[in-house]
Amino acid sequence: MASTLRFGSASDIGKVRASNQDQLLVAEPLFAVADGMGGHAAGEVASLTAVEALRAAFAKERTVAGLVDAARAANRSVWEKAEHDADLRGMGTTLVAVALVTDEGEERIAVVHVGDSRVYLLRQGELEQLTSDHSLVQELVDDGQLSEADALTHPQRHVLTRALGIEPDVTVDSLQVLPFKGDRFLLCSDGLSRELSDARVASILRRLANPQDAAKELVAEARANGGNDNITVVVVDVVDDGDKAAAASAALADDPGLVIPSEMGKGPAASAKRSGGGGGARGRLRRSRPAGAAKNRAITMRVVGFIGVLAVMLGGAVAAIGWYARGSYFVGVDGSGLTIYQGRPGGLLWFQPTVSERTSVPVAAVLPSRLDDLKAGKEEASLADAQRYVQNLKAEAQAHDAATTTTTAAPAETSTTSTTSTPSSTQPTPVASTSSVP
Ligand code: MG
Repeated sequence: MASTLRFGSASDIGKVRASNQDQLLVAEPLFAVADGMGGHAAGEVASLTAVEALRAAFAKERTVAGLVDAARAANRSVWEKAEHDADLRGMGTTLVAVALVTDEGEERIAVVHVGDSRVYLLRQGELEQLTSDHSLVQELVDDGQLSEADALTHPQRHVLTRALGIEPDVTVDSLQVLPFKGDRFLLCSDGLSRELSDARVASILRRLANPQDAAKELVAEARANGGNDNITVVVVDVVDDGDKAAAASAALADDPGLVIPSEMGKGPAASAKRSGGGGGARGRLRRSRPAGAAKNRAITMRVVGFIGVLAVMLGGAVAAIGWYARGSYFVGVDGSGLTIYQGRPGGLLWFQPTVSERTSVPVAAVLPSRLDDLKAGKEEASLADAQRYVQNLKAEAQAHDAATTTTTAAPAETSTTSTTSTPSSTQPTPVASTSSVP
């Protein structure tokens, strides 16, 4: 049984901007938010071009890799448009997209992102930011040079290190999530994340069950809180994950003749006794078919109920093992580059680790002393921790290079987060920048 999605969306110009350069796409099973940048109408053209190109390209291959390719196609479209029209030169856009795909026979939520728009996942009440901003301040935070709090007010907080449309090709970050019933994905532009704390966002997402209500409320609060930028939000709920154990228990609950497994001790057993005991004399006298049928039905209910309990218990055990097996990340080596996997190194039972993100950091960019750890699989608690670990490895090797190199040759840029430009140490070149907040 396939997962089904419910969704809602909202966008607002905010209180300060003259136009709304954000763009959202709701085209089940594909959802996206793009935040355009550029003078005059260029930002609007960039974000609209990006989501239209994304949609067209994704239709060709609905897989994780297909979504990554679609984001690259979107980049190409924006870049080409900017190249051919002097009025649009320099325009760019962020892009986050989420799609329900079937990959290797398994349903997954594919997530791609470029820039500082974000994707969050609310699972079992906990909000997790799935994406890491491609921005200068995020790099400083990752390197430990800036606190999260200071990043919010940093004068260069709008400077992106990666955006669509700036170069003919772009590195697209991607990850995939196994969908579970109750998962809620939030896609948003920075107009939301700059105005509302994660705690406030989580509170709204927990409180409003209807995704459209949640989307409207998020945008309304971000506007009320300042509205210094365009605000755009898409909320996508997984309302059915095709869980067979849950389906079996729902089927039991739906049939009034059957009891739900948790009440089995009293239910089917008691009705079996009634039909065979108290009603037995009359039943024997009349030899009525219904009496016999009732008894058979009671026995059948017992068997079904028992199977239901087993299914739920087994489902619970599988879910618990799955949760443990897939509940962490590790950084390993795949070919010549570093890759972040979801799962446990070597796998656990039948849960094999899956690729969460192929970083663009080559093995050659890491200190040799770290390779044993990486080959064994360096475990981290979350994707963000794993990304941080990769960044730290890179920074460590660069620091080491700088200490041992006496020539002025700069090390090759191998960053996962700055493929569109190399910010210089003193005056970073804005690849793309939303205009500053007054
Ligand atoms: Mg913005």
